Amino acid sequence: MSQKQTLSFQAEVAQLLHLVTHSLYSNKEIFLRELISNASDACDKLRFEALHHPELYEDAPNLEVRVSYDPAAKTLTIADNGIGLSEQEAIDNLGTIAKSGTREFMGRLSGDQKADAQLIGQFGVGFYSGFIVADRITVESRRAGLKPEEGVRWVSTGAGDFEVETITRAQRGTSVTLHLRDDALDYLSSWKLKSIIGKYSDHISLPIAMRKEEWKEGEEGKPGEHVLTDEWETVNQATALWTRPKKDITPEQYQEFYKAISHDYEPPLAWTHNRVEGSTEYTQLLFIPAHAPVDLWNRDKAAGVKLYVKRVFIMDEAEALLPSYLRFVKGVIDSADLPLNVSRELLQESRDVKAIREGNTRRVLSMIEELANAEDKTKFQKFQSEFGAVLKEGLGEDFGNRERIAKLLRFASTASDTATVSFADYKGRMKEGQEAIYYVTADSQAAAANSPQLEIFRKKGIEVLYMTDRVDEWALGFVNEFDGTPLQSVAKGQVDLGTLQDEAEKRAAEEAAESFQPVLAKLKEALKDKASDVRVTTRLVDSPACLVVTEGGMSLQLARLLKQAGQ
Ligand code: ADP
Ligand code: MG
Repeated sequence: MSQKQTLSFQAEVAQLLHLVTHSLYSNKEIFLRELISNASDACDKLRFEALHHPELYEDAPNLEVRVSYDPAAKTLTIADNGIGLSEQEAIDNLGTIAKSGTREFMGRLSGDQKADAQLIGQFGVGFYSGFIVADRITVESRRAGLKPEEGVRWVSTGAGDFEVETITRAQRGTSVTLHLRDDALDYLSSWKLKSIIGKYSDHISLPIAMRKEEWKEGEEGKPGEHVLTDEWETVNQATALWTRPKKDITPEQYQEFYKAISHDYEPPLAWTHNRVEGSTEYTQLLFIPAHAPVDLWNRDKAAGVKLYVKRVFIMDEAEALLPSYLRFVKGVIDSADLPLNVSRELLQESRDVKAIREGNTRRVLSMIEELANAEDKTKFQKFQSEFGAVLKEGLGEDFGNRERIAKLLRFASTASDTATVSFADYKGRMKEGQEAIYYVTADSQAAAANSPQLEIFRKKGIEVLYMTDRVDEWALGFVNEFDGTPLQSVAKGQVDLGTLQDEAEKRAAEEAAESFQPVLAKLKEALKDKASDVRVTTRLVDSPACLVVTEGGMSLQLARLLKQAGQ
């Protein structure tokens, strides 16, 4: 049996704890949400491991969370009979910061105590939130499958180090006991705890139980009081939010649920909740966040949809449930058809999953269309600035929905400084006789606006769209036309303005080309390794010369990108 050992927190944890214990909190009560969510995760993990090892349930198959308090000892305890922690797991998981949400939080710290304290309230910092209200936390646990003598006790005052020792613990699972600070004694109240649980944890599918209270009449003229009994009652709804009828769920409940699954502090822009019936049955609850995650551009990560099968949690980040260009969407899919032991590999091949992915894609596109068509465009603009660029990947990735996606794109242009122009808007403003939608690609809007290639278009009053996202060049390669009108880069080949170019101009250009023949021949000779052709152009008004690429050739912007990438 191991001796009691004292260990130091990882430096980042120490820093975080210092902040937690030395700041004022606008939103203290979030500690309960964090600890209940850990208890619920621990039960999900047990349920999942028990699919293959049913013996892990021992003699306690009914998973639940119990919240209790002891007014005399001034303690509050959150206990679960989930997976539990081994001694090593307690050291690793309660002494370091592993989770990405907390890391993101750390990255946002400003050093300004007041602002940072507010951030804690919004983010929650997981287990360490307990130190907002406690000056000492005792965790006792035993991992499912280990012997009673292999339990662990972890104790810390949140000041740089923690103690661990081996204990004997008959029950599986974890209990977290908070020794409340003097300014947090108001949490020793059933009413208060119930109201916090109702606010943040109602959607948790596990029962959260508290001791029943009983009214005891006062004796000999003393006032009566509530006393705790030994009987437990469930105080939350204890049904997973997505399984409830839509009409019974308030917007606040959806928002709290979103925050709980996404570790986001801002409410989502939009959500959709549906029970899909037919050959593949599933429930979908999907959210569009209000801001992009830090790793949005990492195409391998950041899938945000959790997969459940008949309410059993199967996996986080199930990337097979949505195409990669919708990887910013968060939510839950609960399938009635998939086998409980489904693996990531199986998901890739399943026909049910293919149907779910298609259904999800359609729903998400509808959600975005609704934002686009709303009277108030604020949300759609927010969507564009956060996710507009990633949505464009869909042009190359999702042929079936290419038209729907193209309709949702917005650009800045020679006629609009803000990225609000759709292809349809552009078409509506086309000059008579104009045969193409013109665009210019550049690193920035300023560079696009100053491009010499635009001169003739400005002169003629023809609008040109600015393509300034990194993905534009690649994505536009998949779109030759919009609603019957071809897309044409102003930097490619001979710009043929068609009937917009008047005959006199054409003749002048031809005559000029004639008379410049000797000069052109010399230039061609001098530039023979650098340019494939030199010709007289009508596209310039003020600039003496510009580079263009041949029709079908790589554009300058793409060539520059490839050069940057060392190609
Ligand atoms: P997160 O829940 O996002 O992983 P937390 O700070 O809330 O981060 O918890 C850190 C880790 O501590 C968890 O990932 C888990 O491994 C462990 N843990 C916390 N509470 C419990 C619990 N009740 N039962 C089992 N493990 C727990
Ligand atoms: Mg947690």
